Amino acid sequence: VAEKETLGFQAEVKQLLQLMIHSLYSNKEIFLRELISNASDAADKLRFEAINNDSLYGNDHELKIKVLFDKDAKTVTISDNGIGMSRDEVISHLGTIAKSGTKEFFSKLSGDQQADAALIGQFGVGFYSAFIVADRVTVETRRAGADAADGVRWESTGEGDYTVEQVEKTNRGTDIILHLREGEDELLSSWKLKSIIRKYSDHISLPIVMQKEEWDEEKKETVVKDEFETVNQASALWARSKSDITQEQYEEFYKHVSHDFQPPLAYTHNRVEGRSEYTQLLYVPGHAPFDLWDRNKRGGIKLYVKRVFIMDDAEQLMPVYLRFVKGVIDSNDLPLNVSREILQESRDVRVIREGSTKRVLGMLEEMANSDEQEGKDKYATFWKEFGQVLKEGIGEDATNKDRIAKLLRFASTHTDSSDQTVSFADYIGRMKEGQDKIYYVTADNYNAAKNSPHLEIFRKKGVEVLLLTDRVDEWMLSFLNDFDGKELASVAKGGLDLGTLEDEAEKKEHEETESQYKELVEKMKGALADKAKDVRVTFRLTDSPACLVADEHELSANLVRMLKAAGQ
Ligand code: ADP
Ligand code: MG
Repeated sequence: VAEKETLGFQAEVKQLLQLMIHSLYSNKEIFLRELISNASDAADKLRFEAINNDSLYGNDHELKIKVLFDKDAKTVTISDNGIGMSRDEVISHLGTIAKSGTKEFFSKLSGDQQADAALIGQFGVGFYSAFIVADRVTVETRRAGADAADGVRWESTGEGDYTVEQVEKTNRGTDIILHLREGEDELLSSWKLKSIIRKYSDHISLPIVMQKEEWDEEKKETVVKDEFETVNQASALWARSKSDITQEQYEEFYKHVSHDFQPPLAYTHNRVEGRSEYTQLLYVPGHAPFDLWDRNKRGGIKLYVKRVFIMDDAEQLMPVYLRFVKGVIDSNDLPLNVSREILQESRDVRVIREGSTKRVLGMLEEMANSDEQEGKDKYATFWKEFGQVLKEGIGEDATNKDRIAKLLRFASTHTDSSDQTVSFADYIGRMKEGQDKIYYVTADNYNAAKNSPHLEIFRKKGVEVLLLTDRVDEWMLSFLNDFDGKELASVAKGGLDLGTLEDEAEKKEHEETESQYKELVEKMKGALADKAKDVRVTFRLTDSPACLVADEHELSANLVRMLKAAGQ
């Protein structure tokens, strides 16, 4: 038998614990949601592993979560008969933080309590939130399939270290025992615990049970009985009918699947029947996660087959450019033993992905086209957080390119602000008489774009130019030649043809000027022979003496710079 060992928390865990206790105190009830959420995940994992190994259930097939309290010991216990943890799992899951985005999270902390509380919420509070209400936490766990003698006890006061030891545990799963801090006695009440569970965890599909209480006439007090009652609705939320689900329940379910603290921007819930049968409950988060740009990130869709949890982050169910979408897809057609490899080739999965993509785009269109300020604000938030990711769809999803193009928003010379708010439709609505192109300029940043010498002639003529400064813009533009029949034209490329915007008199004047400067131009061409491909007289500048332009069909200067920076 291994001895009791004392181990130190990873430095990040210590920091997180400190922050959590100090910044989330005003929101302390969420500890119960987090622990119940973990218990529910543990049951899902057991069900999944048991698909191929029914013996893991032993003689205990009824998965459930128990919430108990002990007034004398001043403890609250959350107990599950899910997958449990081995000793190694305890050490890695409850002693370190292994999440992607951890580094970004810690680098963004400011020391300001309110701001940091919001950041922790975005990062995910999880197990360590137990220490908001407890000054000591004991975890007793036994992995499904392990012997009773191979239980593990983990204990910590949430300061620098924790202990682990081997213990006897008669049943499978995990008990989390919270030794409440002074002043938290309020939680030692079945009424209080029930109301927290109903508020935050009603959507959990497993039964959450508590001991019944009864008034004892002789003792003149309520006594706790040995009988249990189910406190929540205990059915999968997405399988209920829409009319039976409240906004709050949708939002709490979102927090459960996304590990987010804040409500989502929008959601869509549908049962699809026909060629492929599935239910989708999809959410657009209100803010970008810390690992939005992490290449290994897989996305946020949980796959269920006939209510049985199959996997997290099923990236095949959503195109990469919608990787920020969170939620659940429950298929009636896929086999229970489906693997990531099978998903990749499955025709059913393709149908689901196409259907889900359409739903998400529909949800975004609804916000974007909303007549109400609230919808408009939501779309502005969406665009700020995820606009750059959505742009990837222009190159990635040829089928929906036109729908995505309508959702794009840009900074523009018209608004004179770096906020990206102008759509192609807005632009077209403001086009000048005789203008047949949508003009844009690309640059590294807003100021460079705004002050580009290429804009001078457009300003003078009152022609609007879109200012494109995101890293993905050049790449995106290589897939986007026109919108609604209007060609997209860079103001920095080729011989500028302002079409009928140029009148006859101007044309004549320009021709005269050109012949006047012919000799000078030839001299400059000679002098710059190995540096410039061509030298031309230009009318596009009004203040600057000269500027560099790219050939119509060549890579723009900005893209060349980007490729060089990327080492190509
Ligand atoms: P998250 O749920 O986002 O992964 P948590 O901090 O809530 O993060 O939990 C950390 C990890 O600890 C979980 O991913 C899981 O592996 C493990 N864990 C926590 N609670 C339980 C439990 N009741 N049963 C089994 N494993 C658990
Ligand atoms: Mg968790």
